[in-house]
Amino acid sequence: MMISREIRLASRPTGEPVPDNFELTEVEVPQPGKGQILVRNTWMSVDPYMRGRMDDAESYMPPFQIGAPLEGSAVGEVIASGDPGIPVGAKVTHFLGWREHVVLNVSDAVVIDTGLARPEDYLGALGTTGLTAYLAVTDIAPVKEGDVVFVSGAAGAVGSVAGQLARKLGAAKVIGSAGGPEKAKKLVEDFGFDAAIDYRTGDLPAQLAEHAPEGIDVYVDNVGGDHLEAAIETLNVHGRVALVGMISEYNAPVPGPRNLYSAVTKRLTLRGVLVTDHLDRFPEYIGKAAGWLADGTLHTEETVVEGLENAPAAFLGVLRGANTGKMLVRL
Ligand code: NAP
Repeated sequence: MMISREIRLASRPTGEPVPDNFELTEVEVPQPGKGQILVRNTWMSVDPYMRGRMDDAESYMPPFQIGAPLEGSAVGEVIASGDPGIPVGAKVTHFLGWREHVVLNVSDAVVIDTGLARPEDYLGALGTTGLTAYLAVTDIAPVKEGDVVFVSGAAGAVGSVAGQLARKLGAAKVIGSAGGPEKAKKLVEDFGFDAAIDYRTGDLPAQLAEHAPEGIDVYVDNVGGDHLEAAIETLNVHGRVALVGMISEYNAPVPGPRNLYSAVTKRLTLRGVLVTDHLDRFPEYIGKAAGWLADGTLHTEETVVEGLENAPAAFLGVLRGANTGKMLVRL
């Protein structure tokens, strides 16, 4: 037995989560049995959807349980193996993050090729956030040559990739929104957007109309609320919306959008997506995106927080915009 550490759910939040909702605990980790591996996690992901799992509510994923460790994507190195298929030293990705060591059945781990990309890329641009962005602009609200595309949450993990992929698909103009002047500057200078909106300066509909006098054809919604309303107002007839997430509503759900009737008059398509329905698309996506990372045509950034003990702060940070690109915890 070895001693390791994990983060458990201590209590459920009301509104915005707080540090007291989490508990850092020492645990004993057994040696792997036949068909199992012992993994030392090196990176873990904190993601907005985890907020929903902190509530005791039915959703597409079961709620976290009080007193039980949290879960989420992680990558790590195999340090003991009971299966010849995944030897010691292999790097794997799996879904039992929020802990430093874990014993997994080999069927719950996927070996990653660290010759193709860095381990942490498999939690970002080559992970579920990258695949979500790809699905949004290829399948859910397909971007066509000459489209004007608006992406919210554009300096984040999904948004920064979605904007760049929209450009690759031939968008004539890509507009992003993010919180604060530094992120807005970065959208244009580093992520290649044509125009950026700092939504915190107010009057989002006016700012969007100013940047897109011709209207928008595609909206990738990571934010919901005021952003979805502004996009509906600005969308052209037959516009398409990929409903990816609504982070502005996770701590405090709101009714709306108030102008949904415009979806009728403009014959809009608003389509939701869950990346977990499309995990079979990973080989196709990684086959393309690894090349874009290697040739530098897909720019990625990470905000890295050090140590498992700081994972709750990293998660609280992602809900408040403390990250640029993918928020990751190095263990
Ligand atoms: P992220 O964008 O890297 O981080 C979240 C960002 O949301 C923050 O950095 C913050 O940026 C922004 N934000 C927070 N509160 C906001 C508010 N009230 N209004 C506007 N922006 C706000 O996170 P991500 O992992 O890429 O996820 C982005 C969205 O996609 C989330 O809604 C998430 O739930 C969703 N998602 C969906 C799927 C799926 O399968 N459907 C998969 C992955 C992610 P600012 O500083 O710019 O405010």
